[in-house]
Amino acid sequence: MLKFIGTGSAFNTELLNTSAYIKNNDTLLLIDCGETVFSQIKKLNLLEGVKNVYIAITHLHSDHVGSLATLIEYLNIFCDIVPNIILTNDDSNETQEQNITKFLELQAVVEGDYEYTYADMLEDVLPDLIKVELVEIKHSSKLTSYAVELYFKNQTIYYTGDNNDKSYLKSIAKKLKENDLVYTDCTNQEYDGRVHVSVKELSDIFNQKQRKQVITMHFDSYECLADAKDVGFNTATNEIAIAELLKKLAVRN
Ligand SMILES: [Zn+2]
Ligand SMILES: [Zn+2]
Repeated sequence: MLKFIGTGSAFNTELLNTSAYIKNNDTLLLIDCGETVFSQIKKLNLLEGVKNVYIAITHLHSDHVGSLATLIEYLNIFCDIVPNIILTNDDSNETQEQNITKFLELQAVVEGDYEYTYADMLEDVLPDLIKVELVEIKHSSKLTSYAVELYFKNQTIYYTGDNNDKSYLKSIAKKLKENDLVYTDCTNQEYDGRVHVSVKELSDIFNQKQRKQVITMHFDSYECLADAKDVGFNTATNEIAIAELLKKLAVRN
């Protein structure tokens, strides 16, 4: 099960940029690091006790990568950690590596400050993790985007990142097992060249029973979240909201 640092779209300043993580003992696996993510990581005290950091980047839109350089520098300077950026195993990994390297280099973050690791080399980084795959999916025509698939012994987690890739989602719906989870962006807006799958399209793809296993994220608005909920999808929740709620409850007691 993933936890969420933010669940909003690029322009949703309230729900913050969508980013998820798994923290186990001294290992943190982070998916995406958009503009608002670094400050939330600090607020959540997420790096406490962490020694190993793995970062999967779904694509280079700034709501998924905007604070990556800051996070790497912070890990280097304050935590003595060199994080690992995960590369796909498919043929696009050379371009993927070049693009990330260039993007970080322009911000004075160079190889050595971080390292690259291939997705299929992450076996046992987390308990029961068998393999990770970064699968190319359709999102923006201007950049390559990946879904992150985490294969555990008894569960597969599909994390689409940003997508408008109905054939990818259909292929997941077809093979979805009881314990599996799907995390997907969604939108309730219609516009030319729409780059996100709509709630309506998602409900055409996943049957009523499967929708409990589909956790929607990357919300444009609360209305979008409510629309997804209304048709039976699960919805991702910001950890910071839970942390703040607990704090408020503690004060009250
Ligand atoms: Zn996005
Ligand atoms: Zn995007």
